[in-house]
Amino acid sequence: MSARITLHCNRMWPEGSCPTQVMTDARTVEEARAAARQLGWRPGTGETDFCPTHSGASIGCWSTPVIHLHPPTPEEAGC
Ligand SMILES: [Zn+2]
Repeated sequence: MSARITLHCNRMWPEGSCPTQVMTDARTVEEARAAARQLGWRPGTGETDFCPTHSGASIGCWSTPVIHLHPPTPEEAGC
């Protein structure tokens, strides 16, 4: 049994919003955010999260849209 928690980037423009999101199999939002933070996400307060691009972090490779925590699956972590 695993919950699916998806974090969405909350960066907004007049024309729309950032489409970046990250799916995790974390059991809690806190756990999902902790994992996302490892990838450069900047969890904010409430429902506000920012992707690596809009968090100010410099991540060289951002190609892992899904975070597996329970259990880790190395074959999914292609970067
Ligand atoms: Zn973004």
